[in-house]
Amino acid sequence: MKSVTILGATGSVGRSTLDLIARAPERFDVLALTAHKDVAGLAAAARAVNAKQAVIADESLLSALRDALAGSDVAAAAGEAAIVEAAGSGADWTMAAIVGTAGLRPVMAALRGGKIVALANKEALVSAGDVMTRAAKQSGACLLPVDSEHNAIFQCFDRALAGSVRRIILTASGGPFRTRSLDAMRAVTPAEAVAHPNWSMGAKISVDCATLMNKGLELIEAWHLFPLDPDAFEIVVHPQSVIHSLVEYVDGSVLAQLGAPDMRIPIAHTLAWPERMETPCARLDLVAIARLDFEAPDPTRFPALTLARDALREGGAKPAILNAANEIAVASFLDSRLQFLDIATIVRETLNRCDPRAPTSLEEVLEIDRQARAAAQSLVEMRRVDA
Ligand code: NAD
Ligand code: MG
Repeated sequence: MKSVTILGATGSVGRSTLDLIARAPERFDVLALTAHKDVAGLAAAARAVNAKQAVIADESLLSALRDALAGSDVAAAAGEAAIVEAAGSGADWTMAAIVGTAGLRPVMAALRGGKIVALANKEALVSAGDVMTRAAKQSGACLLPVDSEHNAIFQCFDRALAGSVRRIILTASGGPFRTRSLDAMRAVTPAEAVAHPNWSMGAKISVDCATLMNKGLELIEAWHLFPLDPDAFEIVVHPQSVIHSLVEYVDGSVLAQLGAPDMRIPIAHTLAWPERMETPCARLDLVAIARLDFEAPDPTRFPALTLARDALREGGAKPAILNAANEIAVASFLDSRLQFLDIATIVRETLNRCDPRAPTSLEEVLEIDRQARAAAQSLVEMRRVDA
C-alpha cells in the first residue's frame, strides 16, 4: 500500500486525484486531505476514501468540520499550521494541488519529508523554484511534475542525455480568446474567461490560460525542472491540446507525449511512477481528431508571455513578483474590479516597482510575495472599474 496525502483535495486537480484513488482503494492508504473553506466537500471526500485526517485551512470552520465528520473515524484539524503539519507527515506520495502561493509552506514541508511530491501547484516553483529544488536535493525528495506539459516533458526527457537535448517545446491551447481581436478582448467577462475550450480547471488557472500567463508561469516552472538555457524553451499554440509538449534532441529527433486532455492521465503517471496504472480516460482516437494545428503565440494580444520570459531571464525576485502581482490581478478580475487586459498591465507595473533582489530562503520569498501583493493591490485600486 502507498500512503498518500492530498493538499487541495477539493479543487479540480484534487478531485481528479481522488477519483483515481477511489478506483483502486486496495493500493492506497490516505493519510490526510486538506482544503481551504469547503467543509462539505472535504468531509465527503475524507469519508469516501477513509482518510485518517481532514484539515481545513480556515480555523473558524473547525467545529463545522467536526460536525460534518461526526460518526466517522476521520480526525479533524484546522489552520495553516495544521496543513503544513499534514504536508510533512511522511506520506509516500503527496499531491501538491493548492492554488497559488498559499501552497508554498505546505509544498516545502512535503519536500522536506523526502518522499514523492507530485506537483500541480506551479506557483510554488515560479516563486520559490531555487529554494524548493534545493530542499528536494537536501532531503532526497522526488519532485514529479503533474502539470500536463511538464509531465509530458518528463516522460520524453532522458536525464542521462540531458546534454543532447536541444530544445523543449511547450504547447499551449491558446485559451478561449485565441482568435479574438484586441478590441473584443477589452470587454471579456469573468464567465467567458473561465470557460476553457479543452480543459476543466479551477477559476484562477482558467483565467491564466485566457491571458496566456499560465504558459508564462509554465515556462519558468519548466526551467526549474529541466535545466536548459531559457532560450531553449519555445512556446507553440496547439488548439486541440492533444500533444502535451515535445523534447528535441541534437540529432533532430523530437519526442512528444500525446493523450486526451484529462488531468487524470498525468496525475496517474505520477501516482503509479515508476510503474503505470489503468485510468478510465478517453483513448486517443487519431482518426476522429484527423488534424493537429500549430501557430505562434501573438505577443501583442498576450503580453503576459513576454513578461514571464523577461522575468525568467532577469531572475532574482522577478518571477515571485510576477506571480504575486498576477494572483492579485486575476482575483480582482474575477471580482469584476479589473478589466481583462489590465491584468498584464498590473503585473508589468508591479514588476517595475518592486525590489528585484534574489530571495535566499522561503521566508524571503514570502516577504517578496507580501510586498508585491500590496503593490499590485494599490495599483488595482487606482484603476478599478467600479470606482
Ligand atoms: P482549484 O481552485 O480548483 O483548487 C484549489 C485547491 O486549493 C482547493 O482544494 C482549495 O480548497 C485549496 N486552497 C485554495 N486556497 C487555499 C488556501 N489559502 N489554503 C489552503 N488551501 C487552499 O484549483 P485547481 O485547478 O485544482 O489548481 C490547483 C493547482 O494546480 C494550481 O496551482 C494550478 O495552476 C495547478 N494546475 C491545475 C490544473 C487543472 O487542470 N486544474 C492543471 C495544471 C496545473
Ligand atoms: Mg499546464
